[in-house]
Amino acid sequence: MQPLLIIGAGQAAATAIEALRREGYTGGLVLVGDEALLPYSRPPLSKKYLAGELAEERLLLKPRSFYDSHNVDLRLGCRATALDLAARSVSLDDGTVIGYDRLLLATGAAPRTVNVAGHELAGIHYLRSVADVGRLRAELQPGRRLVIVGGGYIGLEVAATCRALGLEVDVLEMAERVMNRVVAPEVSAFFSAEHARHGVRLATGRLLAGFEGDGAGRCRAVHTLDGGVFPADLVLVGIGAMPNAALAEAAGLAVENGIAVDGECRSSDPHVWAVGDCCSQTSLHYGRRVRLESVDNAFEQAKTAAASIVGRAVAHDRIPWFWSDQYDLKLMIVGLNFDYDLGVLRGDPASRSFSYCYLRGHQLLALDAVNQMKDYMAAKKVIQERLLLSLARLADPSIPLREAVG
Ligand SMILES: Cc1cc2nc3c(=O)[nH]c(=O)nc-3n(C[C@H](O)[C@H](O)[C@H](O)COP(=O)(O)OP(=O)(O)OC[C@H]3O[C@@H](n4cnc5c(N)ncnc54)[C@H](O)[C@@H]3O)c2cc1C
Repeated sequence: MQPLLIIGAGQAAATAIEALRREGYTGGLVLVGDEALLPYSRPPLSKKYLAGELAEERLLLKPRSFYDSHNVDLRLGCRATALDLAARSVSLDDGTVIGYDRLLLATGAAPRTVNVAGHELAGIHYLRSVADVGRLRAELQPGRRLVIVGGGYIGLEVAATCRALGLEVDVLEMAERVMNRVVAPEVSAFFSAEHARHGVRLATGRLLAGFEGDGAGRCRAVHTLDGGVFPADLVLVGIGAMPNAALAEAAGLAVENGIAVDGECRSSDPHVWAVGDCCSQTSLHYGRRVRLESVDNAFEQAKTAAASIVGRAVAHDRIPWFWSDQYDLKLMIVGLNFDYDLGVLRGDPASRSFSYCYLRGHQLLALDAVNQMKDYMAAKKVIQERLLLSLARLADPSIPLREAVG
């Protein structure tokens, strides 16, 4: 009997291994990952680990003994280069070919890169892996000028971390406001003000034109299309991530902003599942296909896929959530705010503890909570159960969110 093969050794893979064994899967399990490390947690890479406050071993999702006790054949430091659906085999870059009975793709995502003039200069960084942090951290010295391209989660988290480390920080964002793809203008404005208060220079509405180098081939400035020049000792580009779906696509699997999977996380081939950042799936609650990049999503999809693989199919029906830490602010986002027609602010942003509610009519679609755990917890249930809210009560932060129902 051929093993169950997992490609990609990250958050989703580690969860899937545990779930598969718990579900009673007793067959062979092979885990292939192109990084040398055991599966680890990425969120600290822009937060505590980047700040030097967390040791590398603390990032590991499971100790090595977990893989021994779960009987996993680990092939780390190996990249899967080709998938043959008909032969049910995967080729690795060390020349090995592994046959599988069932395959789980958990290949994650990779930073979106820029291709403008000077993009190959030294001192330009991306952030996805422990290795990326190693290169970046070696350059973080107090007083140096860091220019961050992209005012999304990663850019803003790194800005906060690097201000605390004493660097000068500019953030260049092409949209008119930070985190514009995910939060309402009121929430963007709050975070912009917080970053300004901490000395981050935010420049919005700036499109990247290119990087200027010195004679030694090192980036010394970032140019924007409107003629802006931002001197830099180092640069971080954080402009989003692309699903690692090339292996699947070349093999002929359906790809639609990531590997397209059904409600059980099964791909267009019945022997292949995909989970985490690399796949897209129709959200039952929101009725649209989405590709999510979050720990929660990787975790929940891995459990769904494990159940499906052992023949105990359950349709994936979860309300997604996500968090971001910037300074002492914990932003918790629950739900998806696509097509909201009304936004309600609960509380005063000046208090640094408030929520922003996204509604369609009287139904809550999503909520952003800033240092506001109670609203976040209540919102999960309100969204899941499609409870209807009184807008007047919702807008009054002295009334608990769950009592705004009706
Ligand atoms: C800096 C940073 C901060 C983040 N902060 C947060 C946060 O605060 N909250 C949150 O919810 N989420 C956060 N995320 C997102 C979260 O980490 C991801 O959503 C999660 O790691 C996805 O898990 P995954 O298993 O799908 O992919 P990954 O964890 O990326 O694992 C995929 C693995 O597969 C490997 N791989 C890819 N292709 C191949 C191949 N062909 N052969 C072998 N191996 C391959 C990759 O190298 C990688 O090791 C953050 C991500 C980053 C990068």
